[in-house]
Amino acid sequence: MKDCLFCRIIAGEIPAKKVYEDEHTLAFEDINPQAPTHVLVIPKKHIRGLKEASPEDADMIGLCHLAAAHVARERGIENGYRTVLNVGPGAGQSVFHLHLHLLGGRDLKWPPG
Ligand code: AMP
Ligand code: ZN
Repeated sequence: MKDCLFCRIIAGEIPAKKVYEDEHTLAFEDINPQAPTHVLVIPKKHIRGLKEASPEDADMIGLCHLAAAHVARERGIENGYRTVLNVGPGAGQSVFHLHLHLLGGRDLKWPPG
């Protein structure tokens, strides 16, 4: 999508620090990190968010989680990390291209705020 920030990152029109890429997913450093590891994993297909996803997007969403697990393994943060989907403005979603936050490298409190 032309006016989508993350589609523009996928297209290479906006720079990002890429940490992982495969046929269906892209992972890059969050510009405003909330933990020593704060990576965003996005599907290359534009999906607005989890509540707009359809059954045909299930594989894509699963692959984003597996990409996050791969990055966590590579970074040696498997003792404890979190994958988060903020769904809707009330949960803090500010970019409307589905993205998984991978947070780790520090103690993570539960429940999150
Ligand atoms: P959310 O609030 O769940 O929609 O997450 C959006 C995330 O995208 C935030 O954590 C932002 O810091 C991050 N972000 C916004 N613009 C960029 C960018 N150009 N490159 C990397 N991360 C970004
Ligand atoms: Zn998009």
